[in-house]
Amino acid sequence: MEGVSETAENAPRPTPENHAPPAECDVLIVGAGPAGSAAATWLARRGIDVVLADRAPLGRDKTCGDGLTPRAMAEMRRLGLSEWAGERISIQGLRLRGFGTEHEIPWPAGRFGTRGSAVPRRELDRALAEKAAEEGARLHAGWTARITGTSDVMGGVTPSEVTLSGPDGAEQQISARVVVGADGARSSVGRALGRRWHRDLPFAVAARSYMTADAHDRPWIGSDLELRDAAGAIQPGYGWVFPLGDGSVNLGVGALATSDRPANVNVRELLAAYVPKVREEWGLHGEPREVASAFLPMGGAVSGVAGPNWALTGDAAGLINPLNGEGIDYGLEAGRLLAGVVAEHLSSTDPLGAGALTKVWPQVLRKEFGPSFALARRLAALLTYPRFLPAVGPTGMGSETLMTAAVRCMGNVVTEDDADLVSALWRGFGRGHRLIDRVQGRPLFA
Ligand SMILES: Cc1cc2nc3c(=O)[nH]c(=O)nc-3n(C[C@H](O)[C@H](O)[C@H](O)COP(=O)(O)OP(=O)(O)OC[C@H]3O[C@@H](n4cnc5c(N)ncnc54)[C@H](O)[C@@H]3O)c2cc1C
Repeated sequence: MEGVSETAENAPRPTPENHAPPAECDVLIVGAGPAGSAAATWLARRGIDVVLADRAPLGRDKTCGDGLTPRAMAEMRRLGLSEWAGERISIQGLRLRGFGTEHEIPWPAGRFGTRGSAVPRRELDRALAEKAAEEGARLHAGWTARITGTSDVMGGVTPSEVTLSGPDGAEQQISARVVVGADGARSSVGRALGRRWHRDLPFAVAARSYMTADAHDRPWIGSDLELRDAAGAIQPGYGWVFPLGDGSVNLGVGALATSDRPANVNVRELLAAYVPKVREEWGLHGEPREVASAFLPMGGAVSGVAGPNWALTGDAAGLINPLNGEGIDYGLEAGRLLAGVVAEHLSSTDPLGAGALTKVWPQVLRKEFGPSFALARRLAALLTYPRFLPAVGPTGMGSETLMTAAVRCMGNVVTEDDADLVSALWRGFGRGHRLIDRVQGRPLFA
């Protein structure tokens, strides 16, 4: 007996990496970024059997600015990570600069609170995935999903075979009643199931880096709206410095583009040209480290985000704000919404009819994010015209009132309950633009 218990004690503890996934589950979520982990947490809280698989081991990096708006912080609290988030740097607002002007604009007061933050994604995503596991999701890190899609009788595509490949060549076929693709901008799940990303609508290309900085604990985000390349030409985007409070900052640049008006710039070179502009102000030392760049699909500019028994969320569904590149909050919020939709679907007596995710999920996304995305994506499209920003930038930056309103709208801290003029205008224009999209046959998430 002694020998048996010794063997059990000496056996390696199961970790997200070393144990095989099950052969079946109610919901398989592919991708444990903010969108997938949030969905897994909310589903597990409803008592649903959920497997959360990510191809990377826990604590992976993700190319990102690491910035969290007050709205994202509010969602972290809902997930039960208040204490964890409370120990991170507190960011009060933005220091906006450009066209000869500078404004310090605090986050607006409202139901989300006035505290933002910035946390390296290695830490943030680990905390979110561990939270999902703590709530009961079966987490398998280091397991890559491969999905084969088959055309169904309704003219859609459904996942017919799902295989998870793990360490040392391990493979497991898994059967799930619902598959969720939360696997990022390139979404292999989306590709297998017929997602299309419309690059004639605005998207962004951005690069981030880390730098050692004296002002690493400054409670303001630095945001430079007059972003110039090495030749001095203004680019349609912005440069950022997000203080991380750990001796370093996340420094990066992003530029908007469409397939007709591609970003005429190499973002890594743009980042290199940006560093000298902020070196002294932030007390930056050495050269940028861990420079990495990526595309950002934005504003719901994708079609095919759901089928009868599958759905895409987060970047895979284009859930990024076209005006500031923020996607973490949208992923977290969408995870909560998707859990509700999937729970209803699983209990529906007509899961392929009225309860089919094909119809319900795009409707929910349009209702929740449609108006602000429709307006933001039109404004972003205007910014891709080379003459637009130089023409309006100086006037816009000259007005503190306008910039305060812009921070509020761009930071996504306007809600349906707000009754003031700025939010009424933002919502009204948003609905108008959604209508125009519909008339032009370009609805979001269609
Ligand atoms: C340069 C840059 C700066 C940004 N700055 C900010 C910012 O400051 N604030 C902000 O809110 N947003 C920012 N964003 C956007 C933000 O990074 C994304 O919106 C966010 O990461 C989306 O989360 P997600 O969960 O949808 O996808 P991801 O975070 O990309 O997670 C997808 C996960 O899926 C996994 N995966 C992929 N394929 C498979 C597979 N086949 N099998 C298993 N797992 C798989 C990946 O390993 C990954 O962990 C920035 C983006 C970029 C590129």
